[in-house]
Amino acid sequence: MLTPSIPRTSQPILSRLLEKGLDSPAGPDESAHTTSLLSAMLRDAQRERASDLHLDPDSGGYQVRLRIDGAVIDTIRLPAADGTRLVRTCKTLASLDPTNVRIPQDGRAEFKADGQEVAARVAVAPTVAGEKLSLRLLPAHLTWRKLDELGLSTHDCQLLRGAALDARGMILLSGPTGCGKTTTLYALLQELRPTNKSIVTIEDPVEYVVDGITQIQVNEKQGLTFAEGAKGLLRLDPDIILMGEMRDTASARVALDIADTGHLFLSSVHARDAVATITALRNFGLQDFEIAASLDVIVAQRLVRRLCSKCRREEVPTAAEIKWLEVFGQPIPKKTWHAAGCPDCSMTGYRGRLGIFEVWRLHEEEADLILKHADEHTLRRRLRKQGMSSLLEDDLSKVSDGTTTLAEMQTVGGFGFYTGGAKSG
Ligand SMILES: [Zn+2]
Repeated sequence: MLTPSIPRTSQPILSRLLEKGLDSPAGPDESAHTTSLLSAMLRDAQRERASDLHLDPDSGGYQVRLRIDGAVIDTIRLPAADGTRLVRTCKTLASLDPTNVRIPQDGRAEFKADGQEVAARVAVAPTVAGEKLSLRLLPAHLTWRKLDELGLSTHDCQLLRGAALDARGMILLSGPTGCGKTTTLYALLQELRPTNKSIVTIEDPVEYVVDGITQIQVNEKQGLTFAEGAKGLLRLDPDIILMGEMRDTASARVALDIADTGHLFLSSVHARDAVATITALRNFGLQDFEIAASLDVIVAQRLVRRLCSKCRREEVPTAAEIKWLEVFGQPIPKKTWHAAGCPDCSMTGYRGRLGIFEVWRLHEEEADLILKHADEHTLRRRLRKQGMSSLLEDDLSKVSDGTTTLAEMQTVGGFGFYTGGAKSG
């Protein structure tokens, strides 16, 4: 029998089902069989706290993989016929064309697993080995994460809360895809919700439907882009506008218009740190005087896995860790925290994730520097002098207190641009 690579105290439901010898039947039983496989797969995913479920085709069949706390873990294998039927069933449930296997498609579907509703974003793509399926599992009820539960230091949390309640201008979240920007934006909205303000959002996709907030879904095919949608939102008499992403000149222009008219504007930008966000805005064609006048706060963010408190171990640093710390000009501690693995954390050594942050509230002096077209290096030097904790420093502090590991930090990566600053500053 195929054994899952997550050793657990109890066996995954899907593997129990396959062990019963449920070979792929033909005829009417085929669909019942596929339904039980799908249901078992979804229940396993939920039990393991997975955010995504992948069905990856290869030469021998399909590999089921789960993404848990951001890391992809192999579970069990399925025969090719089962995998293909599962992909087809998911496509049908998501109203995609099940017969078209030549183009990538995506949609949303509601599944039933043990009578429980499971909503997921469904994506399929043709690969050389067959069609790959990925399901992004959406929580049944939006569990609002509070601002102080995200991993922000007390200082940064207060600073951000204060800026949001000040309620004018622009707050931007920056970081790569999947770094928790949406969660942080929603945690900010939660802070603002009791203030009797009208909150409207335009998102792509709207992952969580929230009562009391007006949410609009981007529909590029119909011409409803971020920019067009945000313009429309202004007519809805809002106080606070959230635009899921600032991704081009058009959306950046609209963002400026909104922030200039006395609204609080929240959005996200792809940039590697807070300072690089200024460069991203310049690349969108915004002028230095426009950026300096409108921007209030930039929050740069990454997500790291949280060490499992039941099994973490403190040991002497590994050679790789020492090398890495040296590159960043950091002192080498006698001991560092390491992941071990226990049934509580699906043997991964980690349980849950938290953000590492850099929170920059722009002061007049920094606005002046932007007006003078200061480059990233100059701005970073200024912020270091001001004592702002960088992404690297925030992460290192969470490594030293055993919240996460250096290994995890290395996986997240993208700190290369701090090497110069860390050594010279
Ligand atoms: Zn553990």
